[in-house]
Amino acid sequence: MNTPILLSSPIFDGKEQTNIQKALEKGFIATNGSFISKFEQKFSQRLKTHQITAVNSGTSALHLALIHLGVGLGDEVICQSFTFCASANPITYLGAVPVFVDSEKDTWNISPEILEDTILSRISKGKKPKAIITVDLFGMPAKHHEILEISKKYKIPVIEDAAEAVGSLYHGQPCGIFGELGVFSFNGNKIITTGGGGAVVSANVEAINNARYLSMQARENTHYYEHFKVGYNYRMNNISAGIGLAQFENLDKKVKKRRAVFDNYKEMLKNFEGISLLEEPSGVYCNRWLTTILIDPKVTGFSNEDLRLAFQKHNIESRFLWKPLHMQPVFLDYPYYGGNTSSSLFYKGICLPSSENLSIEDLERIVTIISKQFKYVFK
Ligand SMILES: *Cc1c(COP(=O)(O)O)cnc(C)c1O
Repeated sequence: MNTPILLSSPIFDGKEQTNIQKALEKGFIATNGSFISKFEQKFSQRLKTHQITAVNSGTSALHLALIHLGVGLGDEVICQSFTFCASANPITYLGAVPVFVDSEKDTWNISPEILEDTILSRISKGKKPKAIITVDLFGMPAKHHEILEISKKYKIPVIEDAAEAVGSLYHGQPCGIFGELGVFSFNGNKIITTGGGGAVVSANVEAINNARYLSMQARENTHYYEHFKVGYNYRMNNISAGIGLAQFENLDKKVKKRRAVFDNYKEMLKNFEGISLLEEPSGVYCNRWLTTILIDPKVTGFSNEDLRLAFQKHNIESRFLWKPLHMQPVFLDYPYYGGNTSSSLFYKGICLPSSENLSIEDLERIVTIISKQFKYVFK
């Protein structure tokens, strides 16, 4: 009866199997093969003004983007605090210092006001930040127009971490392109997956070629192995790219289904006082990778943890929102600018199951559990 409902399961209903088989038959299973270039081509066509190079994870994509911007030992890099640790980890790989910035309430992403204050404060300390990492958390685009204005004003390049925002649009343009460089992730639970994978995005062809070169051990174009630089083994493999190509062909369908999941939740939860969903600001098309709700325990009488435990009892997977990085033990020693916007989102929020194949029956099972939490309070 209680079949498990997962938070976000990958769905393979395209040419994934066929492509894997082709890669195996041809023997191209590593970092050579036609699926990699096809995947890059198709994706670049979709982005129109920008190109991608495919790598083995979103984390490596961020690492390469930071290297391309020349981030090194002792440099400071501003990073949205409300995000997954992978947004900031590559900063520390380079011996650089993350400076965390709080979110604003409309998008839950980096606050342009606090961002500017942070830049001014760091400059006044003689440490002009080398880069700014913004995140489109849960697929919701950050306030890119405002952020880019600040980036221009202070001449600090932006890296857009669009790991969760493949398929999202901001004023008609795809997420991933709002910066000097952008980053995608195709990890197992993201909106499209290659198993493990990611991409670096840029309008600057040289940046893309440089990232591709570094991702393949910085090997020179000679018949023997010649190296002028230290490279990385970060290239996407051909099997992953074959899966990715098949997933990519269904991207629009997947986004529509995720958005339908969100719309269904919104409709079913509309009379639940004390529970709110994040609305799309105007001009925004969010992929709704995960549907998230905020619970105000003063109104509902139960917390996100109460709900998580109730779900767990019924074999339903849910998860808290990302714990802000400035609160993470590993990052406690780094500077933080802002107040308690992201921390209060963490204390109130929960991600609901959001797989594209979630049925109406599944949704009803989930919403019934939420409603029962209320009954418990009032009985
Ligand atoms: C998933 C994710 C990443 C990292 O991507 P991987 O492919 O898992 O390395 C980076 N940033 C954010 C916001 C993510 O959600």
